[in-house]
Amino acid sequence: MTQGKPIDILLVENDPAHAEAVRRAFEGAGTHPRIRLARTLREFREAVAADPPDVALLDLDLPDGRADEVLTTPPEAGLFPILIMTSYGNEQAAVELTKSGALDYVVTSPEAVSDMPRRVSGALRIWAFLQEHKRTEEVLRESEERYRDLVEHSNDLICTHDLEGRILSGNEAASRMSGYSAELFLGKNMADFLEPEARGGFKVYLEFIRSTGRASGVMRVRTAAGDTRYWEFTNTLRTEGVAAPIVRGTARDVTDRILAEKAMRKSKKELEALSREFHAVLDAIPDNITRLSPDMNVVWANRASAAELKGKPADLSGCHCFKRRDDPDHPNGKCPVLRTFRTGESDYEIITSPDRKMWEVRTIPVKEGERVVNVIEVGRDITEHRRMEENLRQARKMEAVGRLAGGVAHDFNNMLNVILGYSEVALARLDPGAALARDLQEIRKAAQRSADLTRQLLAFSRKQIVVPKVVRVNDAIAEQMNMLRRLIGEDVRIDFLPSEDPGNIRIDPSHVAQILANLGVNARDAITGVGTITIETSNIALDEAYCREHDFQNPGEYVVLAFTDTGAGMDAETLERIFEPFFTTKGVGKGTGLGLSTVYGIVKQDGGTINAYSEPGIGTTFRIYFPRVREEAEGCVEPAREAAPVGTETVLLVEDEEQILSLVAQILEGHGYRVLSTRLPEEACRLAERHDGKIDLLLTDVVMPGMNGKELQGRIAALRPGVKTLFMSGYTANAIAHRGVLDEGVAFVQKPFTVRSLSEKVRSVLDS
Ligand code: ADP
Ligand code: MG
Repeated sequence: MTQGKPIDILLVENDPAHAEAVRRAFEGAGTHPRIRLARTLREFREAVAADPPDVALLDLDLPDGRADEVLTTPPEAGLFPILIMTSYGNEQAAVELTKSGALDYVVTSPEAVSDMPRRVSGALRIWAFLQEHKRTEEVLRESEERYRDLVEHSNDLICTHDLEGRILSGNEAASRMSGYSAELFLGKNMADFLEPEARGGFKVYLEFIRSTGRASGVMRVRTAAGDTRYWEFTNTLRTEGVAAPIVRGTARDVTDRILAEKAMRKSKKELEALSREFHAVLDAIPDNITRLSPDMNVVWANRASAAELKGKPADLSGCHCFKRRDDPDHPNGKCPVLRTFRTGESDYEIITSPDRKMWEVRTIPVKEGERVVNVIEVGRDITEHRRMEENLRQARKMEAVGRLAGGVAHDFNNMLNVILGYSEVALARLDPGAALARDLQEIRKAAQRSADLTRQLLAFSRKQIVVPKVVRVNDAIAEQMNMLRRLIGEDVRIDFLPSEDPGNIRIDPSHVAQILANLGVNARDAITGVGTITIETSNIALDEAYCREHDFQNPGEYVVLAFTDTGAGMDAETLERIFEPFFTTKGVGKGTGLGLSTVYGIVKQDGGTINAYSEPGIGTTFRIYFPRVREEAEGCVEPAREAAPVGTETVLLVEDEEQILSLVAQILEGHGYRVLSTRLPEEACRLAERHDGKIDLLLTDVVMPGMNGKELQGRIAALRPGVKTLFMSGYTANAIAHRGVLDEGVAFVQKPFTVRSLSEKVRSVLDS
């Protein structure tokens, strides 16, 4: 119905009079509608098809059917309102017609016809209202439809459930994510999706929502297929407008994300474990390992490095590496770390730190592309290594010089023996007052002094024959005190301060004398005017580590002899060289440089160690360590014989050196002995076999070609049981077992010998 336009009424009536009455009623009411007339249902349909009216008035009974055929239910579903007219009527029919879709029902009495315009306008108002209502409903339905569609096709699960967990609704995603069909999903309880062990907690969770109205999180669910999935959910509680509280839930499947996170956490854990292990390994390395930034700050340090930097690894970042060596304020040009930052290459340097330690420093660049971001510095303390190398080098040098000196001294010694021997033989033939005799005396004296010198060389080279005995060290020193006092003179006091019982040592007693004499002479030389020498004894037990560091052969108990003077002392350079043979500061003709090297040699030979401490201007202490032995000391057997050492016994003499052989034979024969002599040990055996009479003594050299003295002694003893043996030698290097040591207690005479020392020795062996 459009304002201003007349109402378009379609009147369907087969009775023209009735139609006319209706038309007049409208005209009488002052309204001027357009009224079209149709007489049958067919004409009605044609008219509607041509142009639908605003309202239709239909007589109930028409020639081709009843009007209710064209009604729609509800009436507003039709295109226009329809009013039914009938000439008869009752309430029942009216109700039925309106149920069928008639908007109104009019019984055509004359009053009703005249009332028709009012009824039509009333119907049009109702129609308008109905149409309005219909449109509103449609809008509502559409919006609801949109929301349903939205919910239905949401990728996230959307559902509702009650406070027992019973599911009330769920969208497509709910089915998809849970794996249950829409119907089955609706029959479920939220708890059914949880792992059985999580269901107890679900009640608590529902209680939580009831009290707080909201909850969110990630839950682990089990799908219809039995897979485990993770849903990230948000739930809110609705209490208004519903009979019982409802929980609205949305959830999203975040399984992939959770699994990725889990994998990441696991690999992070593994990485951490690996890193811990790696750091433990680095900490176990005794080298200093430090990671440095370009401004020379410590980024990381292993335990050794941290200890050197005097901190804990954790506290060191920002600390400067060069603190520990060189200049404590600046890295210097020798720093290989700086060089590596510059060049990007690994580097190497030997560095001495202020505490006089030596470091071998290697650097490795850590690069990002071409840029050196950090440098790893590996520092190794090589102080000890260097010191040991130095010791070894020194020992080798001494060994080489010793071997050389020993070789020369041995040959020299034999010749001195000849000079000494013949000068004595010649002297014996001359009148002591003769001028020639005085000359010979001088020759003999010079030869004797030379012999002393070679003896020192031989001692140093350890080629001297030693006859060690177990002695109480205090007694052995005490025995030498008179000799020492005579040697040193009156201006220097000697204090001997033996400790209670420092123990026994195994040593050739002549070594004690030699050591004390050499140290004594040096001390006297170092003291100008008056001074004191203090000799002390003590003992000490040394462990493995100490021995390794301080050049001892074996750990164990040592007896210490400390020899201290209050002399001039030495500077470090002198101190370093004192044990070198021929090293002297005493000027030509005064020192030989053989004193301390001799002491060094014999201390080594006795299994000991010597070291020296000295302060210029204050004095010097030598400490000698001898291995302590547990055996008892042997008594001294050295009866001095004043009687003329002569005899008539038969001596079998074996000596490969021709000149010495004839010299010794001459001496022995001169003293009354019968001598069988030979240069060859084999020949000696034959002589021993063939000789008719008794053989009382075998006097033999120790080192000879073919057979050594010891072997020869065995052979002769087998042929002539009870024969006595006296060995003579300048040295015995390798021929005798145990580094030139004769069996303890064998008779031995050292070359060069004097006529008297030889004849005395021969006599004493024969008499023993
Ligand atoms: P020499 O005494 O013939 O010089 P040594 O081998 O006995 O040879 O000594 C070597 C050097 O060691 C000496 O020249 C001296 O410089 C130094 N020396 C040895 N003992 C002492 C001491 N007690 N005090 C100071 N210097 C010493
Ligand atoms: Mg000396």
